[in-house]
Amino acid sequence: MKAYIGLGANLGDLSATLRAALEALSELPDSRLLAVSSGWRSAPVDAGGPDFLNAVACLDTALAPLALLDALQAIEQAHGRERPYRNAPRTLDLDLLLIEGQAWSDERLQLPHPRLHERAFVLCPLLELAPELALPGLGRLQTHLAAVADQRLHHDGALWPQPGSASRPG
Ligand code: ADP
Ligand code: MG
Repeated sequence: MKAYIGLGANLGDLSATLRAALEALSELPDSRLLAVSSGWRSAPVDAGGPDFLNAVACLDTALAPLALLDALQAIEQAHGRERPYRNAPRTLDLDLLLIEGQAWSDERLQLPHPRLHERAFVLCPLLELAPELALPGLGRLQTHLAAVADQRLHHDGALWPQPGSASRPG
């Protein structure tokens, strides 16, 4: 199944942290990293601290939703994520945005992520990877861009070698 993961960091060496997280995603069991968006710089939303670097990754995975969430949280912990208070600055935040064809709602996991359409830093990189993506209740995600146009966001170039690139790691 295709899973889309939102990555964000706003403390430390942002691009190094996101690349290390992508490396960790590429090494998850029963999974393959299919695509990675560009990096995007965003102003914190309801959060303090410096600007974020954000990206979205597409993973082909056979992991069950909660096993994937466990794996994402383990990667966050490995990068020193602390939760001193809600929306605190973070070295690394990994959100499970959606798993194709899956809905989920319990106290640990909601799928699709309930706020994905309200955040420019999620929508723009996600639409880079899946321009035609549509979700039940939301329709085509492209149609939500206008509502987030006031959120400060800058395209920031490639984070990860694209398929076919000569410098692909591994
Ligand atoms: P946020 O990403 O909203 O800034 P956290 O990363 O601290 O905040 O996540 C808070 C909680 O959200 C986690 O404990 C997790 O169990 C829960 N959660 C619910 N749905 C999801 C999802 N789709 N992806 C990631 N976490 C989720
Ligand atoms: Mg999170």
